[in-house]
Amino acid sequence: MLNRTRILVPLVVAAVSVSAANTLWARKAAPDPETAPVLEAVHAAPLEAIETHTLERGETLTGVLAAASIGGADLAELLLGVREYVSPRRLVSGTEITVRRWASSGAMRGIELRVNADTTLRLMRNDYGWDGRLVLTPIVFDTVFTGGEIQPGQTLYEAVVLNAEGDIPVGDRISLVYRLAELFEYKIDFNREIQVGDAFRLVYEREARPDGTARAQRIMVAEIMNQGKAYDAVFFANGPDHGGYYDREGRPLTAGFSRYPVAYRITSSFSTRRFHPVLGIYRAHLGTDFGAPAGAPVQATADGTVKSAGWSNSYGNLITIRHPNGFETRYAHLSRFAKGIRAGAKISQKQVIGYVGKTGLATGPHLHYELRKAGKAINARTAKLPDAPPIAPEYREEFQRIASDRFTLLDVETERWTGRLIRPARIADEN
Ligand SMILES: [Zn+2]
Repeated sequence: MLNRTRILVPLVVAAVSVSAANTLWARKAAPDPETAPVLEAVHAAPLEAIETHTLERGETLTGVLAAASIGGADLAELLLGVREYVSPRRLVSGTEITVRRWASSGAMRGIELRVNADTTLRLMRNDYGWDGRLVLTPIVFDTVFTGGEIQPGQTLYEAVVLNAEGDIPVGDRISLVYRLAELFEYKIDFNREIQVGDAFRLVYEREARPDGTARAQRIMVAEIMNQGKAYDAVFFANGPDHGGYYDREGRPLTAGFSRYPVAYRITSSFSTRRFHPVLGIYRAHLGTDFGAPAGAPVQATADGTVKSAGWSNSYGNLITIRHPNGFETRYAHLSRFAKGIRAGAKISQKQVIGYVGKTGLATGPHLHYELRKAGKAINARTAKLPDAPPIAPEYREEFQRIASDRFTLLDVETERWTGRLIRPARIADEN
């Protein structure tokens, strides 16, 4: 995998210093800076001896510190200091504990606890006691280019994840490939249509830690060459809550409606006449049932507004959502609603709104999903579903400018790797 890192906005999160009023950390008066001795620079052996221990299952912080010959008042003070920030009992296995000593005397200098990927607790001994502070791992925002080509026997997933070139951590590559697949899910069938020689290239922004792992990442622009045809996607936010992906011409990549609210098999189709297992009679089934386990998340199939969320007789726990252009969807038999789901709540497509259950008239856990247009139930499996809304006219110009910048960036980054990447057909044609 190829990667090009450019630091756009170096941002170092400042260390959070402990308040000076904390008596434990400042028991003695500070020396007067005017009279304090000035140390001369000397070339000397390393000042510090550093030992790092990774907390294992069943180990305690006290045990690790005791093993490092820290005991008595020292240990008690340290533990008190640690408790100001984290409960020593809640340190999980894998926590790194670093003990720093003065090389000359072996005296304790301080300890560091890597509480999580973003935070280190540092307790350093000074002349007056201990100085504790939480150090936040500095995050840099950078832009990364990556690209590749599908090799024989490879899926897109393998091409992205198994490629060891570059220094993008595996976990980040996995989330990238999922995002890439999501971007083009309405355009390319990744199970069947990806072929040897297909290629991908993309630029994404990330918030990266010094060890290279990303805390967050977003694909800004991407392109997949699939069977000789280029599919592209550029991120554009047309308004504060309306970020989405569009092709070069500004057409939304996603459909306005997902076909289904859960990825489980259909157990009962839409029909105007079927035998009802609970009622024991024939009657219309004006929805689609999915055999999903209790608790499986249910996603809204389109943007909309919650019309109602509550108990509704045979439907059990039911959510009804109103969508643009006279569409309405219903999600029934839910075990519970997601947080914030109530009448009037704004919902976006694929937002989790509730969880599969068997409330109301249901023999077992399943989702009953209804799609209605102008008050009439229609078959979700066969209905012609509306496209996502295009970019509003007032954002058109901004889109063209941003899209042009991002596609140029993609081409520039591709240029740097010419010879190592398949170049898109339309650029090759111009040469
Ligand atoms: Zn049903």
